[in-house]
Amino acid sequence: MTGYCKAAIFHTNVKYIRRRRGNEGIILLNKILKEMGVDLNAEKIEAMKSSENIPLELRVKFLEACLKLFDNDTAKLRAMGREAPKDSLIVRLFLGYFMSPNGVIKHAPALWKEHYSEGELFIVQNDPNVGRLGLRNFKYSKLMCVYLCGYFEGVGDVTRAKNISCRETKCVHEGADYCEFEIKWTS
Ligand SMILES: [Zn+2]
Repeated sequence: MTGYCKAAIFHTNVKYIRRRRGNEGIILLNKILKEMGVDLNAEKIEAMKSSENIPLELRVKFLEACLKLFDNDTAKLRAMGREAPKDSLIVRLFLGYFMSPNGVIKHAPALWKEHYSEGELFIVQNDPNVGRLGLRNFKYSKLMCVYLCGYFEGVGDVTRAKNISCRETKCVHEGADYCEFEIKWTS
């Protein structure tokens, strides 16, 4: 477990919590992180540059803290993932409204590399109204898979796709060789 991810990911999450839960939510998140012994809080995150590297162990801890903030409801963690692409300048600039979901899937492996130093996102299928993305060499926490499922739906929301949904069909935390995300939509 030596990989890193970009602070940009955390920025979108702090923005989300501020928007949804206000300052009270941020205070509670900071309290949870402190109780968990995690050397990170919302203000520290906001002071970082988007391109700054944060160890993936901290990413997992941060997601665990968010889950506690969300009353241990994984659906709420997934919802945070779904909103993230809308708050990400990179995603909006490069993928934005110009691209179809198939175009986004084509660029997803490169987008992954922009954000994560570990793991390899690869295309399993990229057909009209359905795509499958695989993720290998990335076994950190099931919470990552839950978050990513929401995130992929959110990327679809930024395109012209309708009724987008993502389902994890294989998971390394359930004995598979890699995680696989099936993304479906109507045009
Ligand atoms: Zn998984």
